Amino acid sequence: MTDGLQQLWAGWRHPYVTDATDAERDKAGGPGVDCVFCRIAASGPPSADNGVVWRGETCFCVLNAYPYASGHLLVLPLRHVERLDELTPAESAELWAATQDAVTAITAAYRPDGLNVGANLGRAAGAGIPQHVHLHVLPRWSGDTNFMTAVAGVRVMPQSLADSWAQLEPAWPGRGEPPSP
Ligand SMILES: [Zn+2]
Repeated sequence: MTDGLQQLWAGWRHPYVTDATDAERDKAGGPGVDCVFCRIAASGPPSADNGVVWRGETCFCVLNAYPYASGHLLVLPLRHVERLDELTPAESAELWAATQDAVTAITAAYRPDGLNVGANLGRAAGAGIPQHVHLHVLPRWSGDTNFMTAVAGVRVMPQSLADSWAQLEPAWPGRGEPPSP
């Protein structure tokens, strides 16, 4: 999260947002007991309450509590792993498959003009929670460079996290598909 960046609209505020204090996010992580991502991973099946859109054997996908755009997803291992190269082959494979599914879900739910997929590895690279590796997947639209962010240090979020969850969860591949003819 960029220092000083404020959100005009913060009516959502999931519990885990307020639970994630700066002190917690700055901790080295240890076994992950103080890690907000580990707590989300332990919070049970996908629901609007925990923001989890999908949960697999080794990875899960959750709405970013600090979205750069509505529908901003994070894909990450269930296990508390700091480095991308610490992932097992199974975790790595499922992480990438889930990233593909996140792209599919965002595309189906939002019809964006494009998407950003990427990772910030380490705090110097911009990671807010560097001790638990995660990939960002977010929709982009032509002309959405968001002049308010650049000009005023403010970003406008048009959709609540609960609304984003309700839009994305059924769009995840394998769900909500019409019955075959
Ligand atoms: Zn963790």
